[in-house]
Amino acid sequence: MLNTETLALDAVTLAASLTGDVVAPGDKEYDLARRAWNLAVDQRPALVAFPADAADVRAVVDFARVRGLRVAPQGTGHNASPLPRLDDVILLSTQRMRGVEIDVERRIARVAAGTLWLEVTSVASEHGLAPLSGSSPDVGVIGYTLGGGLSWLGRKYGLAANSVTAIELVTADGRFVRATADHEADLFWALRGGGGNLGVVCAMEFRLYEEPAVYAGMLLWPAEAAREVLAAWVEWTRTVPDEVTTSARILHVPPLPELPEVVRGRSIVVIDGAVAGGVADPAAVLAPLRRLAPEVDTFAHVPPVALSRIHMDPEQPMPYMGHGELLGELDAAAIDAIVDVSGPESGLFMAELRHLGGAVGRVPEGAGAAGRLHGQYLSFAGGMVASPEMAEAVEAGLDRLGAALAPWANGAHYLNFTEKRVDPATFYAPADYARLQEIRATVDPRGLFVANHAV
Ligand SMILES: Cc1cc2nc3c(=O)[nH]c(=O)nc-3n(C[C@H](O)[C@H](O)[C@H](O)COP(=O)(O)OP(=O)(O)OC[C@H]3O[C@@H](n4cnc5c(N)ncnc54)[C@H](O)[C@@H]3O)c2cc1C
Repeated sequence: MLNTETLALDAVTLAASLTGDVVAPGDKEYDLARRAWNLAVDQRPALVAFPADAADVRAVVDFARVRGLRVAPQGTGHNASPLPRLDDVILLSTQRMRGVEIDVERRIARVAAGTLWLEVTSVASEHGLAPLSGSSPDVGVIGYTLGGGLSWLGRKYGLAANSVTAIELVTADGRFVRATADHEADLFWALRGGGGNLGVVCAMEFRLYEEPAVYAGMLLWPAEAAREVLAAWVEWTRTVPDEVTTSARILHVPPLPELPEVVRGRSIVVIDGAVAGGVADPAAVLAPLRRLAPEVDTFAHVPPVALSRIHMDPEQPMPYMGHGELLGELDAAAIDAIVDVSGPESGLFMAELRHLGGAVGRVPEGAGAAGRLHGQYLSFAGGMVASPEMAEAVEAGLDRLGAALAPWANGAHYLNFTEKRVDPATFYAPADYARLQEIRATVDPRGLFVANHAV
């Protein structure tokens, strides 16, 4: 029986074998310990463990297995909303396992399980190197990369998962494994796209790219220009080289004092992203968009760390609900459909399109389970849900947008941008999903690990 008293005893027993800590439902720290970055997620695990190192991770996994509990690894809780109930689950928070080492000569980074992207980009950038990090500085490196990893350098270098060179993890049977292309190759393949289904990742190593000065920033217009700007952007994306990765968004920014004045309380349309190195005249690439006379234009040559903040992603936990779909080619009717349901009354804080294709659309040699993203564009929309009424409004807004985009949706999803529970088969090519399920059944036959998206 899992009552509060039993769990308190379990917490004491487990804590005795850890350097880190364990928190149980009766503890005063429980509410803070169980909190996800997405504050709309009310996760209530049997226990929360904060391992300090890989030995602690192994102790948690061994304890769970013997005690008949399961383990949900979590870095930040940015994508916690699809998780099932956690009544018999130890939430294993990696937030105390931090650290970045950069091998400048080999252009390889090694990070500990709980490392956030800004911790990597800030150090790598000093050497003119860039990881394939995403738009948010405080998303966890491991969760992001296990799900694929779509960066502002993505169309040039592909998904982050395919730049991983080694993953160290604890598997369901308590083994500590270093998986590479030459050792535990099936597991290495499955991890790179298979999310948190296969073990608890304790450390990861991945390639960095020489990008000392990227041409990056944002262009901003009032929302009234949304139709014209989005249509021009779609046309433009058809012409740009693989070095260019951008997004286009309609935003209804809340009037929060901490936000910059240029966006605070406004409805706007924004194009942002990067032109990576190798393009002779990046300003010429942007010229067609600049002809639309943006009110703000921050594009300039910047060190790669600047990519961490061009999208103005929130850096504090917040309550929200979001959803993404993979889309094929878009036309004028698609833009109309998006603009029609993304106004200030939509309940949505933002409706975004990211340009895919390029290297993100090709399966590279030696790829993992998330070989590529299937589609030309990725939509992602969301809204703040600080109350049940807001949640209802955002859900309705997401449904309206989903229905409006249905003619262009190809039925596939991108794991990282999927915050509702969907059929996980839609993340992968059919043969890859079958292989992934087989590998999962071999390494975790009893389903010890609870991932946000179960394979
Ligand atoms: C504001 C914002 C901006 C974003 N921008 C981008 C972007 O530009 N590109 C992009 O691709 N994605 C982006 N994402 C999506 C993001 O990549 C996913 O939410 C990702 O899952 C976050 O990883 P996390 O570890 O921070 O979150 P968590 O919710 O902690 O982790 C998600 C899942 O990853 C697995 N996991 C995490 N750590 C481990 C571990 N140590 N071992 C095993 N499994 C683990 C677990 O299954 C967990 O449920 C963004 C999300 C937000 C909210």
